[in-house]
Amino acid sequence: MSPPNLIIIFADDLGYGDLSSFGHPTIKTPNLDRMAKEGQKWTNFYVGASVCTPSRAALLTGRLPIRSGMSSNKNRVLFPDSKHGLPSSEITLAEQLKNADYTTACIGKWHLGHKEEYLPLQHGFDYYFGIPYSNDMDIPQALLTEKGGYWEVVRDPKNNRIENFQVPLLQNNTEIERPANQNNITKRYTEETLKFIQKNRDKPFFIYLAHNLPHIPLFASEETLGKSSRGLYGDVVEEIDLGVGRILQTLKEEGLDKNTLVVFTSDNGPWLAFNEQGGSSGLLKAGKGMTWEGGMRVPTIFWYPEKIIPGVVDQIGSTMDLFHTFSNLAGVPLPNDRILDSYDLTPLLFHKQKGVREELFYYRGTELYAVRLGDFKAHFITQGEYGQFGPKVIQNPPLLYNLNHDPSEQYDIAEKYPEVIEKIKKVVEVHQDQMLAGEDQLKSRGSE
Ligand code: MG
Repeated sequence: MSPPNLIIIFADDLGYGDLSSFGHPTIKTPNLDRMAKEGQKWTNFYVGASVCTPSRAALLTGRLPIRSGMSSNKNRVLFPDSKHGLPSSEITLAEQLKNADYTTACIGKWHLGHKEEYLPLQHGFDYYFGIPYSNDMDIPQALLTEKGGYWEVVRDPKNNRIENFQVPLLQNNTEIERPANQNNITKRYTEETLKFIQKNRDKPFFIYLAHNLPHIPLFASEETLGKSSRGLYGDVVEEIDLGVGRILQTLKEEGLDKNTLVVFTSDNGPWLAFNEQGGSSGLLKAGKGMTWEGGMRVPTIFWYPEKIIPGVVDQIGSTMDLFHTFSNLAGVPLPNDRILDSYDLTPLLFHKQKGVREELFYYRGTELYAVRLGDFKAHFITQGEYGQFGPKVIQNPPLLYNLNHDPSEQYDIAEKYPEVIEKIKKVVEVHQDQMLAGEDQLKSRGSE
């Protein structure tokens, strides 16, 4: 049998609590809920970083972003004047799958370098359609000056017009629209995905569909605008859900549903600084930009009818694990010339076996802030973001939480479990001894 088609649907800044199947009381996501019911809903699934650029680098390389130089203490993400991007020496999931003759597409937000040498086509993708960085970037200077800065522009819904965000839309290496018409961008990403599936139905394909919403500024097309009782944020999430439904339907119509694995997840937690315009991390603490659970634990669903054992999985998984898992499914050996942070999830997906991932490293930039080991998580450093959740604090002794008992990280139990802290400290020691940080790719901007 030929290897399965592989699709990742990646939402941007969608919180752990933003789908109905993950507990949202008013956002309606019937297609994702059905996908969860037919497949697996993962309740302890994480990203490699709490903001866009490093999180995407982690997913596509199966490595902590510090290794590729895609995390930085100077700039947390790439900007339109950034000079660099994902180094060509990194092996992306797309390049890996090319070894098994997959046809590959990146549809949506890239954010791993907007200069041609860093774009998806130069990183193993056969096709690209999307925006090269975030949808809140390229605000005209005159508007920034008039309103008094970035936050003043984006926080005021009156400025939510496409001309205020001069983000380019690219097809392959060519700019085809500027500003990208964001009103219908989610719908267009879905349509590009459907076309790609139909065109490549006879050979294995890999689609990385990275929606640039519900990252602010929020836009929805006429189909969903004004429909959700959650307001505009709900409209946006429901439009993504509608697209998921169309993708699953097309796979069925093309007779591909029994040979396609679809994964749905998000790049980081909700952007709480935007209040009602941002999402919700549900019962988890904090959100985007932070190493509390709400920043890095994301709603995740695996769907592969008749192959995946349906159910709820509470074992630990990471977007970085998709590299190993997909390589296994495609029959491609892992690269042996570099350290990966990737585990094979197929025992959990297909055989109901126990997970193999025990540990998680929560980095902010290139600094290790927290570590999860089994049920326990120790915070060595805590820091809020965007004016919320407090300043940077070195926690000595570290804060300790049992995430299975206390997913909201409310009750510090460090005093009760000194032996757990010692064990985690040993894990940190080994991890840091072996860490070889890549050269910072995010630091250089503009005329620097
Ligand atoms: Mg994001």
